[in-house]
Order: sequence, then structure tokens, then C-alpha cells
Amino acid sequence: CGIVGYIGPQSVVPVIIEGLRRLEYRGYDSAGIAVAGGPTGLALRRAPGKLRNLETVIHDSPIDGSFGIGHTRWATHGRPTEENAHPHRDGSGTLVVVHNGIVENYLSLKSALIAKGHKFVSETDTEIIAHLIEDELNLAAGKNPNPTVAAPDANTSEAVLTLPLNGSAPTIPLEEAVRRAVKRITGAFAIGVLSAHEPNKLVAARMGPPAVIGIGDGEFFLASDVPGILHHTRNIHFLADGELAVLTKEGVHLTDFDAQPIPLKIQRITWDP
Ligand code: GLU
Repeated sequence: CGIVGYIGPQSVVPVIIEGLRRLEYRGYDSAGIAVAGGPTGLALRRAPGKLRNLETVIHDSPIDGSFGIGHTRWATHGRPTEENAHPHRDGSGTLVVVHNGIVENYLSLKSALIAKGHKFVSETDTEIIAHLIEDELNLAAGKNPNPTVAAPDANTSEAVLTLPLNGSAPTIPLEEAVRRAVKRITGAFAIGVLSAHEPNKLVAARMGPPAVIGIGDGEFFLASDVPGILHHTRNIHFLADGELAVLTKEGVHLTDFDAQPIPLKIQRITWDP
């Protein structure tokens, strides 16, 4: 329901949590965050219920990074549990996805992926997106697409799991794998994706639910709605359907799902939420 992503010099976790708080009016039943590029590696924290619960998890088991994405979920597929909260991981545990919307063809995609050896740990449609991206990375690498699933350590709470770095370096960039994956989806999505293999990069794509990119001074934001980031920057590109954005420390690169470049249309927001 709410998405906030950040890449830049500020402390990532507070930027994302505060952004999610400003999107609270959209309603949600659980929340989660993933950060990477810091001392805790690619780390995931999630909690059912209010943002406060997520903050408690983070307080008890801190994470830090140089980029990250967060989500407040309004469940459509699967109960509002911690396992079903976003972000969701791929099978290798090296990339994560947050998602607003519904993958309509998730059952057929899921059975096709299961037939290839993918194992799913949630009841959500969203988890399929992470595995689709992984599948595209595997296909590009010519790998036998049987992912080695990181078995959860019985002694480690899922909520504080720090993700292992399995898998080899990808042969196509993350954004290309995302482009190929979203073409296989029927339905509606605004997604944010990050990979431990590609430091300081966020990928966002839209088909249906709103998503905006915030252009700051040496920092860049992703959000499902303007109020999540307006206190940081008033320079906003409204992602159109069929657009994919790559956010790095250097800037924002926009394309369609066929990798054709699209110029940014930055609007100056003068109103206050
Ligand atoms: N369909 C997804 C889920 O149930 C996304 C829900 C949302 O938009 O928050 O997890």
C-alpha cells in the first residue's frame, strides 16, 4: 500500500520509516523494510500491525545501509502475517521486492516457477515477482534454474534474518531482469526492487498503482505517493504506466519496459499535504 525507497547520504532507516508514517492515511496491516550497502549487509525487518511494531524489531536488532526500500501492506493475497509482509525475497536471498497491486496470473506463474525448483515461503502474489526476476537472472546466466534456497535457521527469528549472499554475480543488470519479469505479469503493480549484487541501485516500475520519483540534491527517493517524500524534495517525476526507473547515487535513468530511454518530466510541487 505504501512504498518508500531511498538512496543518498542520509541515514536510510529513519528516512524510510518517517516516509511510511506520512503515508499511513492509506491504511495498512503490516510493515517491512530492507536495506543494503551497510554493516548489516542486505538485511530485512518485518512486523505485522503498526509501524511501531516494526520500529521495535529494528530497535532490538538494528540495521543500517546506504540504500533501502520499505512498505506498508494492505493484504490482498495472504493473511497479514510477518511472513506475508513485504519486502519479499527471491530464492537466493539476494534480491528483494516491495509491491502495491495484484499479480492476477500469480497462480500460473507460481506453478511454472515451482516446476523449475523455486520454493515459496509466503502466501502472497508479490513473492512471485521476486522469483520471476531471479528466474530472468538465471535464464540470462544460462544457469540450471534450481535456486539454492537459504534454509531459515531454526534459532533465528524470521523478523531479524540477515540475508546470506548466495548465488553468483549476475550477467544482466537488475533493471533488465526486472523489465523481462514485469512483461510476464498480468495485473497491476508499483514495485521497488534492490539487489545485494548491485550496491546503491533501486529499480522501480509501474503499471497501475501510483508511484513517484523524488529528485533531491545528491539523493533520490521512490514513493507510492508524494506526501511520503515531500518534506525532502519538491521535485517529483510521476512515474507513468509502463515506465521503469533506475535510481543510483548519480541520478535517475528512465526507460520503458523495452529499455527505450524516456526523458524525466520533473514537476515542482507547490502544495502541502
Ligand atoms: N497484493 C500484495 C499483497 O497482498 C500487495 C498488497 C498491497 O498493495 O499492499 O501482499
